[in-house]
Amino acid sequence: MANLENGTFKKLDVVVVGGGLVGSLEALFLAKRGHRVRLYEYREDIRNTPQARGRSINLALSIRGRTALREVGLEDHMINNHGIPMKGRNIHRIDGSTYIIPYDSRTKQCIYSVGRNYLNGLLLQESEKYENVERFFNHKLIASNLREGFLSFQKTDTKEIVEVNADLIIGADGAFSAVRKEIMKQPLFDYNQKYIEHGYLELCIPPDSNGGFQMPPNYLHIWPRGEFMMIALPNQDCSWTVTLFMPFTHFKSLDNEDKLLKFFEKYFPDSIPLIGKQKLIADYFAGSASPLIAIKCRPYNVEDKALIIGDAAHAVVPFYGQGMNAGFEDCTILNQLFQKHHDDLAKILKEFSDTRWEDTFAISDLAMYNYIEMRDLVTRPSYLLRKAIDDV
Ligand code: FAD
Repeated sequence: MANLENGTFKKLDVVVVGGGLVGSLEALFLAKRGHRVRLYEYREDIRNTPQARGRSINLALSIRGRTALREVGLEDHMINNHGIPMKGRNIHRIDGSTYIIPYDSRTKQCIYSVGRNYLNGLLLQESEKYENVERFFNHKLIASNLREGFLSFQKTDTKEIVEVNADLIIGADGAFSAVRKEIMKQPLFDYNQKYIEHGYLELCIPPDSNGGFQMPPNYLHIWPRGEFMMIALPNQDCSWTVTLFMPFTHFKSLDNEDKLLKFFEKYFPDSIPLIGKQKLIADYFAGSASPLIAIKCRPYNVEDKALIIGDAAHAVVPFYGQGMNAGFEDCTILNQLFQKHHDDLAKILKEFSDTRWEDTFAISDLAMYNYIEMRDLVTRPSYLLRKAIDDV
């Protein structure tokens, strides 16, 4: 591979901060180009730990995400061996009747329900195939000098400090990014964050007594109830991850078993036998609702030294199912820029930062809009839908 004008290859020393979905995918893209990649992740290796509460268990994978996975050779595996196709929305009315709104009845395109841990583990596993990738778990970024390419990590187990230098720092450390906090110290950095009044809490519909699905599996199930809603995505083991989105005030008011059951009997009666009364109570009171944040910021880079991608650059509310997908698209676009500019970091980082924000801001706005559409407008006749859209 040649990346310099004289036909030789300059191997870059890259540190990726964050081994979540986007960081582990970006590590693969960079490894494929022949660069040295060190991936530092705060948590333990996800392949050795059970699913953590408070992070979505499954996600909808769409064409943006699939395109990126295709580039690193993992699309077929995810679609054929793991993902569960969701061909439309299956809407649950209060009386328990349902109807279907197909996503694309003409070309039959669909989205896929995939497990977060499974996909993250697969990306990390794939990186083991590249000798030029090293993975460091239990390493928390605690300080940095991005212009100097300097990073300081603390090991979460031994508390030892580890200092590293890099030609390029990629911050893929999520919505509360430590790399972004450092970039914020730059003049002319624009930053906007918004917590919406709704939080989310995950419940579960287990498989039926024969180990099968209790609802038609190839749909994203939605219980739209105006001010709040519940959705369910299918899992490989025939269970469903059910997510209840509600204002925090509602979560707070459902503070005992009786109130919780009465609330479900009133608004989601058909879900009670599916979840099971005791399981509903146990799962609801086992956790607390998590907040939802949207972040818009720019620029994404510090000169030719550092760049933020994924949620670190553009966390969005989850109602458009595009957070991970947009983060994966960052990796595709970045790879195209590496090819276009022959690994010239100054040109790559500048072009990414100058152009990418328009699409990520648009995704963020669409996700905010879909927040209303999913919980409310989806249930209305089209003439009312048109009026409501005009009113937004
Ligand atoms: P993260 O997944 O947050 O990963 C960041 C990583 O960085 C973590 O592993 C973290 O431990 C690590 N880290 C953090 N700080 C440090 C530090 N200081 N040092 C070292 N490491 C650090 N998206 C979709 O596309 N489709 C969906 O259907 C969908 N559904 C969702 C449902 C819900 C309820 C929520 C909340 C989100 C959903 N999303 C969905 C969004 C998706 O989860 C995110 O966009 C995606 O996880 C972003 O990936 P990331 O790698 O950028 O960040």
